[in-house]
Amino acid sequence: MGTSFKNRIIVLCVGLVLITAIASLAGFWWSTSQFKERQVQQDIQKAQSVYQQYLVARERLLVTAASVLTQDFGFKQAVATRDASTISSVLFNHSQRINAELMLLLDMRGKLISTNQNQLDLPQDMRPLVKQLLAHQERSAFVVLDKKLYQAIILPVKAPRTIAFTIVGFVVDEPIAQQLKGLTGMEMSFISLGEKMKASSILLPEDRDLFAYLHEQKISRWFGEYPLYINAEVALPSLSQVPVSLILSADLRSEYEEFDQLVLTIVFLSCITMLFGFLASGFLAKNLATPLQQLTVMARRFAKGDYNAEIHESRPTEEICQLVDAFHEMGDDIQAREKQIRYQASHDALTGFYNRTSALPILDALVSTEQVYYLLALDIKGLRHINDKLGPRIGDSCIEAVAKRIEVVTSSFEGLNIRLGGDEFLTVLQAKPDSTMENCVDSFLAELNKSYTIHNFEITLRFSVGVVHSPEQADNADDSIRRALIAADNAAHGVEDVYFYQTGEDEAYLERLEIIDELKQALIEDDGQLFMTYQPKLNMSSGMVDKVESLIRWKRKSGDWVSPELFIDLAEQSGLIVDLTQWVLKTVISQVAIWKTQGVTMKAAINVSAQDIADIDFIPHLQRMLEEFAVAPGLITIELTERDMIENEEKGIAALLALKALGVHISLDDYGVGQTSLGRLKMLPIDELKLDKVFILKLAASHQDQCIVRSTISLGHQLGFSVVAEGVEDAESLQLLKEMKCDYAQGYYLSRPLKAADLTQWLGQYHKAG
Ligand code: C2E
Ligand code: CA
Ligand code: CA
Repeated sequence: MGTSFKNRIIVLCVGLVLITAIASLAGFWWSTSQFKERQVQQDIQKAQSVYQQYLVARERLLVTAASVLTQDFGFKQAVATRDASTISSVLFNHSQRINAELMLLLDMRGKLISTNQNQLDLPQDMRPLVKQLLAHQERSAFVVLDKKLYQAIILPVKAPRTIAFTIVGFVVDEPIAQQLKGLTGMEMSFISLGEKMKASSILLPEDRDLFAYLHEQKISRWFGEYPLYINAEVALPSLSQVPVSLILSADLRSEYEEFDQLVLTIVFLSCITMLFGFLASGFLAKNLATPLQQLTVMARRFAKGDYNAEIHESRPTEEICQLVDAFHEMGDDIQAREKQIRYQASHDALTGFYNRTSALPILDALVSTEQVYYLLALDIKGLRHINDKLGPRIGDSCIEAVAKRIEVVTSSFEGLNIRLGGDEFLTVLQAKPDSTMENCVDSFLAELNKSYTIHNFEITLRFSVGVVHSPEQADNADDSIRRALIAADNAAHGVEDVYFYQTGEDEAYLERLEIIDELKQALIEDDGQLFMTYQPKLNMSSGMVDKVESLIRWKRKSGDWVSPELFIDLAEQSGLIVDLTQWVLKTVISQVAIWKTQGVTMKAAINVSAQDIADIDFIPHLQRMLEEFAVAPGLITIELTERDMIENEEKGIAALLALKALGVHISLDDYGVGQTSLGRLKMLPIDELKLDKVFILKLAASHQDQCIVRSTISLGHQLGFSVVAEGVEDAESLQLLKEMKCDYAQGYYLSRPLKAADLTQWLGQYHKAG
């Protein structure tokens, strides 16, 4: 790229010089040729006037000479007397004196009397000559005689009347032409029509045609041949039968030479300028390109993260210096921004703690040192509540305040603090030789539990903390974090705020995750892994089974059974319970509809969780199912445990009221273990109390259980509830319950939970036997 930039500058400069040179050359050529042409035309005009003056001078000479002769008395007398020898000598002398080559004396008939040139071949009849010369009236005219051109004049010899004519003339020959050339600087050629005569300053080969010769003369120059002469033809005053012309030929040789010289000079100067331009642009390009190349290198090094790159230019220009400064500024800016981005990418914006991604390698490095440390996973309890009640701004301030407190407290532990998101923190405490793990955690928590002042609110926060002991319980960052979180989860659901991770819990946790995953799949596929069983409830007063409790079963693909207690618990923890209950509702209600078509009116109880009751789609879904399968709401009982009911009483009661409004029955399951007070029981919109099986299983043997059951039944009746006893395993217990006026009994003694088809069969047998 650098070379190309350099080359471009050179080509540009040299090109500019070249274009300028060509343009000026062309301009020069054009204007010079115009000028030269004009000049030649002027020269020709000048030459014309010079030669005209010359002719006029000669004419005057002729006129004077002829008048002197014709007025010479002796001559006149000699002419009159025809004194041939005198005439001849006078003519001769006179011609000698004025240098006139032609002296003729003619008689009135035009016959030659005497001449100074005896050998001259004159025409026989001179009368036309005389006549025409006379027509010029004392002016000279050009005459061709014996192939020679003369400037001649005629004058009569009067004594007193005209007795003869004298013709005096100067020859116009090559020397004259040469002389004129000397005066005008032009080639002079006199020529008569048909070239019977020619006299030229140009040395012509004898037999050459003048015009052809003049046009043929060429000069070879660079681009072809150019005419040597510019010619101008002037008609001379001559006798009509033989017109005579003067051809002025301007020789262009010197013009050409001069012109060529100038062209050469310009070309030479252009070449010099071009060379200079080439060198200068090369120098300029190098001066520009070198720092640019260095800047490119600099930019590449910037790209690789080296922001200290410098350029090595001995005498950089001001602009380059500015550019380099700008580069450095840019480098600094990028560096600062990079640092900021790196910080933001690795730190939590609110607390400035490391985030999970950036913490992993640091934690790994810590593990590799084999130091003993405790990893704590902390969760602020009830932060959601604070967010809801006081707004997220206060919530964020709480997180910030906690982070600050953590930072201060852990500073003595040379720890590491991480925010995982929300209200979850990880913090590393280095083990201290003089303190146990429990003490370390306790003193840490004691600080954290102190109250916080947030926006003028005095807030006390509580934490659930999971603790992992490293490297004993985890030898890498991933495992440490996961196990700490499992422990924190246990702390959140347990009684104590702190939970120390128990070795092996992780595996159980993973297995639970696996089960949840499989359960999700089983619900989606609905391929028979999950199915419902129905356990009969005996109506004690009628002795008939008109009610069942629906109980779910799961046989995994692997063939293992999973206890409903386990997977219902996992489904509740993972939120999957809502989908599962929807499936149960559909299955059981459709089964009730099937029984109806079989002529069996069977009531069915369905177990639901607190989460189901909280789900806004629960009641609409139930209603849809009842409508879809045309099942009367009175045939369905919703079983909810006492514990679930207490957990979210307000919302729970509202939902239960809505359920009751729908027409379904409500049963309080596992009654007796949750210690629901009587007053509260009264407020609950329920139809049925279901005594927990712990009181029933050994009813026959335990007097205490009998007391509890008896009083509970009577209490339930007083409150208007129907009472069900589950876990009836023997006949004595059943008999006792009958005596206690328990309304319904359910238990293995009657039947284990059965598949729908088996239940129909069982019912047939039971009622036949009863
Ligand atoms: P639960 O609602 O208290 O159900 C009664 C449990 O006692 C059932 O256990 C039943 O098989 C068992 N049982 C009945 N009679 C006797 C007896 O005479 N002796 C003994 N020892 N046990 C008896 P299961 O089926 O294992 O269910 C356990 C728990 O799982 C249920 O307790 C219920 O809380 C939950 N569950 C079962 N099915 C569903 C369901 O479809 N939805 C929901 N949400 N929970 C369900
Ligand atoms: Ca139940
Ligand atoms: Ca129960």
